[in-house]
Amino acid sequence: MTKELADLLISDENILPLDEYEKMYPERELQKGAEVTRLAPSPTGFIHLGNLYSALADERAAHSTGGKFYLRIEDTDDKRKVEGAVESVIRTLRYFGLNFDEGAEIDGDGKYGPYFQRQRASIYHAFAKDLLLRDLAYPCFCTEEELTLVRAMQTENKLNIGYYGKFAKCRHLTEEEIRKNLDEGKPFVIRLKARGDASVKHTFNDRIKGEITVPENDQDVVILKSDGIPTYHFAHAVDDHFMRTTLVIRGEEWLASLPIHIELFSDLCFKMPAYAHTSSLLKIDGDTKRKLSKRKDPECSLDYYRREGYLPAAVMKYLMTVLQSNFEEWERKNPDAPYTDFKFSVAKMGKSGALFDLDKLKDVSKDEMAKLSSEEIFSFLSDWTNEFGSESDRAHFKDEGYVLRIIRLVTGDGSKKRRKDIVTASQGVRLFDYFFDDSFAPDYVYRFDAKIVNSVLEEFSKVYDPADDGGAWFSKLKDVAARCGFAAENSAYKENPDMFIGNVSDCAEIVRVAIAGSPNSPDLCTIMNILGRDRSLSRLKKAMI
Ligand code: GLU
Repeated sequence: MTKELADLLISDENILPLDEYEKMYPERELQKGAEVTRLAPSPTGFIHLGNLYSALADERAAHSTGGKFYLRIEDTDDKRKVEGAVESVIRTLRYFGLNFDEGAEIDGDGKYGPYFQRQRASIYHAFAKDLLLRDLAYPCFCTEEELTLVRAMQTENKLNIGYYGKFAKCRHLTEEEIRKNLDEGKPFVIRLKARGDASVKHTFNDRIKGEITVPENDQDVVILKSDGIPTYHFAHAVDDHFMRTTLVIRGEEWLASLPIHIELFSDLCFKMPAYAHTSSLLKIDGDTKRKLSKRKDPECSLDYYRREGYLPAAVMKYLMTVLQSNFEEWERKNPDAPYTDFKFSVAKMGKSGALFDLDKLKDVSKDEMAKLSSEEIFSFLSDWTNEFGSESDRAHFKDEGYVLRIIRLVTGDGSKKRRKDIVTASQGVRLFDYFFDDSFAPDYVYRFDAKIVNSVLEEFSKVYDPADDGGAWFSKLKDVAARCGFAAENSAYKENPDMFIGNVSDCAEIVRVAIAGSPNSPDLCTIMNILGRDRSLSRLKKAMI
């Protein structure tokens, strides 16, 4: 195509000579083997678990090799743009402890920006024009209606869908015809002039999938839309070249487009980056495994984990086990090491679907929670109540000393055995409800009749002394048990169960239900201690039936 016509098709004063771009965005000076990766979300919704999974792989691949991890916003689809989506990506990834080195709205050396695709229009224009000049692209004036008709005909005749071969109507327009269309003010897109033959296959080495077979590209895909904004394919080739990405980690749904990308890199004379196509996250649903769905599964949204109050470290650790099958074993040997110490390898990521199991995440979460000090747990739960808790939760957490005493009941305060009661903040906060009168909701279910229950509670009220230590407290409980017909000693009960109405632990259960509202709780003496004398006595009284 003549320069004059190419200028008519793409008139952008900001275009620079092509080698200027090479100088502007030079190869990065990094150590050998360092990977440059990127997260490239479209701001068309809020980021989900699949993005975080991919971002973790990106981050690890870059930072474990001394490379760079950057954020590029693929905002070419203005119609689907969601306000606040970019901020949400940044906030969410920060919450999970993933740090970018550079990219949209993040300081860093930032030499490879702008990182919002809409701000890079002239770079795409420069290279699209170059393809026009080299006869590797052409303008297409087909209307939506025409294209729809062709697609319907292709479907009917069971042909491949697309703009290719004899269906590529505008591929052979003469310069005169193009000029005429332009004079008539017809809108147009720029298409790639595919040179491949889809029946010819090549092998391609994907870092995750291994050797795969890909056909040559025969599709004249759109590279610039009618508003001059690039499509994903074109922007991907231009940006990943000039941002000097060495490894593109993206979802396996992009595998089908790989032939287009191979052709684009070759036409643009750019060196191809390596690719790693990640498997989809799956979940067990009844008897089958299926893809996690943004629509059906609340756990797909990253907000879910914040709202439920999962420790970010637990989510990341669990995602590591999903990413790398040998992580769990490493973690068992190095329970206290940060996951970043693990030797990550893209090649070891699963070739087929990766199973995401919420129950496993809960186990990891429990273990991670049990590694925190009482003060750390307080601060995590307190932050959660500030954002997601009720007014009454927030009021409870104002009394730091009181809440810390409750937390120490779980943590054992470094001396006693640590309990693993807390899984998430939302569940942990509810676990403490019975320590506050306004949220104490007892379920007075006893396994003994009213006479026995009332006599235990009455007798225990008489002898209870908040000054007693655990030993004294328990010996009083044993006295009460004996007086009310229970066995004071386990051994006595075991020998002659018929002589007693129950064991000392059955008697303790009555007091427990009265005090904590349920038959399960941590150490009862300490609970009564935390509640204080008056509140404890009033609960014993209130619980009589
Ligand atoms: N914007 C694309 C997406 O959100 C990025 C795919 C890629 O990582 O190349 O799916």
